[in-house]
Amino acid sequence: MNKNTEHQDPNTPEHKRGFNLFTAISVFFLITFILNVILSLPLFNPPIEISYNQFVKMAESGNISKVELWDSEIKVVLKKDFDEKFIHDLLGISYSKNFKNMHQQIFYTGRVEDPDLVRMLKQNDVEFYRPVIRTSPILSFMSRWVFPVVIMYLVYFLLFSRVLRKMGSGGGMMGVGKSTAKVYSMEQSTGVVFADVAGQDEAKESLMEMVDYLHNPEKYQKIGAKQPKGALLVGPPGTGKTLLAKAVAGEAGVPFYSLSGSEFIEMFVGVGASRVRDLFEQAKKDTPCIIFIDEIDAIGKTRDNQLGGNDEREQTLNQLLAEMDGFDSGKGILVLAATNRPEILDKALLRPGRFDRRVIVDKPDLLGREAILKVHADRIVLADDVDLHAIALMTSGAAGADLANMVNEAALRAVKMGRSAVKQEDLMESVEVVIAGKEKRDRVLNPKEREMVAYHEVGHALVSALQKNSTPVTKITIVPRTMGSLGYTMSVPEEERYLMTKDELLAEITTLLGGRAAEMVQFGVVTTGASNDIERATRLARSMVTQYGMSDTFGPMGLESIESQYLDGRAVTTASEHTIAAADEEVRTIIDQCQKDAIRLLEDNRVALVKISEHLLEKENITGEEFMELLEEVKSQA
Ligand code: ADP
Ligand code: MG
Ligand code: ZN
Repeated sequence: MNKNTEHQDPNTPEHKRGFNLFTAISVFFLITFILNVILSLPLFNPPIEISYNQFVKMAESGNISKVELWDSEIKVVLKKDFDEKFIHDLLGISYSKNFKNMHQQIFYTGRVEDPDLVRMLKQNDVEFYRPVIRTSPILSFMSRWVFPVVIMYLVYFLLFSRVLRKMGSGGGMMGVGKSTAKVYSMEQSTGVVFADVAGQDEAKESLMEMVDYLHNPEKYQKIGAKQPKGALLVGPPGTGKTLLAKAVAGEAGVPFYSLSGSEFIEMFVGVGASRVRDLFEQAKKDTPCIIFIDEIDAIGKTRDNQLGGNDEREQTLNQLLAEMDGFDSGKGILVLAATNRPEILDKALLRPGRFDRRVIVDKPDLLGREAILKVHADRIVLADDVDLHAIALMTSGAAGADLANMVNEAALRAVKMGRSAVKQEDLMESVEVVIAGKEKRDRVLNPKEREMVAYHEVGHALVSALQKNSTPVTKITIVPRTMGSLGYTMSVPEEERYLMTKDELLAEITTLLGGRAAEMVQFGVVTTGASNDIERATRLARSMVTQYGMSDTFGPMGLESIESQYLDGRAVTTASEHTIAAADEEVRTIIDQCQKDAIRLLEDNRVALVKISEHLLEKENITGEEFMELLEEVKSQA
């Protein structure tokens, strides 16, 4: 076994397969083309088309020896001693070398509806017949049975030759199931340790135990404890599941066999299963080690599939289950798997003795985000003014991968600005880029639009500031961003909140509707600019009614449940149509009330709205402090 990182499938099969298919099609067309050319070559004089009249005259003048009556045409052969002059005059062809052996010349004419044809031919003593087409039994057998098989074989061979190629010397057509294809990768040492994974303390703790099993199996065996065979890492994308698995291997100092669930699944039933068998076989020779199956939901999907199921996946899953049962947990193999859709996994996978540990790797909280930022910021040069805590506050909801990306964006920006260290403003800007897209200074709004955008954004900020329950603003801008916003208000909570009261939710909805309200208060018109606000406000109000039990009508009755909570968190309704209609009505009432509140707040503070908006129009960006100063100023004057 190689010492270093070894990836067992270096060639890019997708590419090769595409190439083969293309060649095959080209060759096929080339052959067809050549055959056609050969068949249409004029090996003898090409048949000459004549008119039906001419044909009749030929027959009546006794020049024709025989005719073939086909469905749509009549083929005419002249007598050996035909009347050259007559034919020449009839057809207007000059005497030529060709014409001399015209008895070999074949004429044809389209078949016309002519009831007298047969009588006419009989009268003129022309031999006529209608050819009977009979294919030879051998040929028909070939075309029905042999050709399709040959073609299927060819297609099969060309399409899947990569599989065949990989089977190596031992395999033949029937050896697919025994494929020795290796698609997993093996790293002798991952080079990742727990210290590289920040903010996932609970996850790390339970995985730390597993590392200990690998290190001191005797300790556990002595007391009779069986070590768990596997752990399932569950969490949203980008939270560090893959990283954690590598860290377990790195901490334990054991080889890391990894394979992505989607790589198991092949065209052929049996290939995935053979890969599983293969992977475990290799790993068993190399204990202690860690087997990591990423995106296990690709194979581990629950088997009660309505559409007849997927044989390949089922076989792969069964093989995986068998392998997991098959190895002895004392032997030092630990199977880790990752998924962001645990709810669709087959129950058999989750039963004790298989993936009996479930490690939740959730999105990081405030402290976690700060720690992750720190891990990644340690790799770049930072200026003194950098405050990672402030950045962590701004990035609520971001996963580890987002944060890593932000730090990198900031470093790129610093380089672009010609700086030698990353400053806080680079980080702030990169957060904004991730949230709202890059600044788009070349988008020109007309003055009226700019004014509207300014009032809209100040509307949000003002409504938010005026409701004491609501979080303050940190920045307002009317510089358009590439992700479509014409301006935005960034509000950052002072602390991270896990619970929200009903009043806070209502305040939030009111703030979201503040933008639209400002347009109405100041200009008396509404624009398309509020669509995103409206969507979010509606979603919040709906959640209040259907999920949080904050509805007056339904009380704590759940009308929706969350599906795939680690992905989009879509809400699926569980209520009857009648109930949903009533819930919609209630959502409307909430939105309506909040809208009225927002309008009232802005009308009462019209002076502040105008003053701050005009200021924003002038400056394009204002900070939370400036905003608060202006607001206080107006308040003190009143
Ligand atoms: P997942 O497998 O959960 O989708 P990954 O493990 O592939 O996420 O994470 C992608 C990248 O994000 C990692 O390579 C790492 O740079 C960064 N990352 C994610 N979570 C963390 C974390 N908790 N600490 C440090 N870096 C992280
Ligand atoms: Mg991953
Ligand atoms: Zn808005």
